[in-house]
Amino acid sequence: MTEIRIDRNLCNGCGQCIEACPFGAIRLDSEDRAEILDNCTFCCSCVDACPQNAIEIEADPVVKTVNLEDYSGIWVFAEHKDGQLRQVVYELLGEARKLAEDHHIPRVTAFLVGSDAKTFAPLLIGYGADRVLSVPLIAEHDGNEEAVCAAAAPIISKYHPEIILIGATAFGRSCAPRLASRLKTGLTADCTALAIDKESGLLRQTRPAFGGNLMATIICPNHRPQMATVRPHVFKPAAFDGKRQGEVLTEEISPLQHLAVRLLKTIKNPEGAINISDAEIIVTAGKGMGGAKNIPLVEELAALLGGAVGSTRPLVDAGIMPYNKQIGQTGKTVGPKIYLACGVSGAIQHLAGMSSAETIIAINNDPDAPIFSIAHYGIVADAPDTVRELIALLK
Ligand SMILES: Cc1cc2nc3c(=O)[nH]c(=O)nc-3n(C[C@H](O)[C@H](O)[C@H](O)COP(=O)(O)OP(=O)(O)OC[C@H]3O[C@@H](n4cnc5c(N)ncnc54)[C@H](O)[C@@H]3O)c2cc1C
Repeated sequence: MTEIRIDRNLCNGCGQCIEACPFGAIRLDSEDRAEILDNCTFCCSCVDACPQNAIEIEADPVVKTVNLEDYSGIWVFAEHKDGQLRQVVYELLGEARKLAEDHHIPRVTAFLVGSDAKTFAPLLIGYGADRVLSVPLIAEHDGNEEAVCAAAAPIISKYHPEIILIGATAFGRSCAPRLASRLKTGLTADCTALAIDKESGLLRQTRPAFGGNLMATIICPNHRPQMATVRPHVFKPAAFDGKRQGEVLTEEISPLQHLAVRLLKTIKNPEGAINISDAEIIVTAGKGMGGAKNIPLVEELAALLGGAVGSTRPLVDAGIMPYNKQIGQTGKTVGPKIYLACGVSGAIQHLAGMSSAETIIAINNDPDAPIFSIAHYGIVADAPDTVRELIALLK
């Protein structure tokens, strides 16, 4: 177990550790000595900040539980739903191919779990897989994360992939930590960049940290596989090549027993509703739209353009918009052809979810709003009035 200790003789209560702690996990006790609180994450910022060298961290020696040499190849978890592969699978295959080719990694495997899994093999190979490995499930287990992970984990343990990439969809986000825990390895969630370190061969997994103010690059040096989830639209898929050849394998598993979760019912989006993750045009309302009374304007404009409505977080927090419309670091990542931001300031946490849009158009009455620094077209004007004018023009 990791322990953190304060030497009370050396600590002079200067408080520099309190300022350095990003988690607010240190305070001064009644004798003006630093005291570590339960929410300490052992990030060590306080150790470096203490001018008295009064803080000491003692960590258990790292135990390598696996022989790292036994692991090779990149696997992409090929999530599918309603008879279709998720778009993020193609994106991950494209990135896996690049990593494999740049670093002489022997093979990219698309890993499928589910009742109709094998049918996707030609698509997966055409988009970059060298091998498709499928694990059949009975239809009643389709879409049940617990069943999928129970079926997948023993096969992963058998084949020893070095890297596993999973799309950060709702399903992928639920499966990835369950799998990492079954495989006793680490997981980096919501990566925005992947690379392989030339010297160590380790996967460098980059993701936003501290509210998006820092980019952290994380490695998993002592456990395998190295696992990462990546949000949809972060990478671009490779072009489809129908001539690519690949191996197709099926692994049978014994019937799954003692599952704690049973899928009773799946509720689909209402007919006609466009999922913002898949939308080609998004009209997003920010606080500058002036609140709930003007949301119908944004909805009308989106409908006239054949697009979907998005939202910034404050509108979701205020209960004006539903969470499934939130775009950004703690919402969805989108990559539409056109992104129309209405009264959106362009905070870094919002940009994290939409900056890969092909064309960004921003309406804001403040010419210095940060959104204009990434917008391709900027309109300095009142947002509700401009939306009204656009509706009239389109009509
Ligand atoms: C950990 C963390 C995670 C977060 N995750 C997300 C996230 O996922 N998504 C997200 O969106 N935010 C997120 N946020 C919040 C984020 O920091 C911003 O507060 C938020 O994006 C701002 O939303 P906004 O642009 O609607 O509002 P504001 O920042 O208040 O901006 C409103 C803009 O509208 C303009 N304006 C005002 N009146 C008008 C008018 N009449 N006409 C035209 N323009 C006008 C203003 O000039 C201003 O630029 C997160 C924050 C944290 C700390």
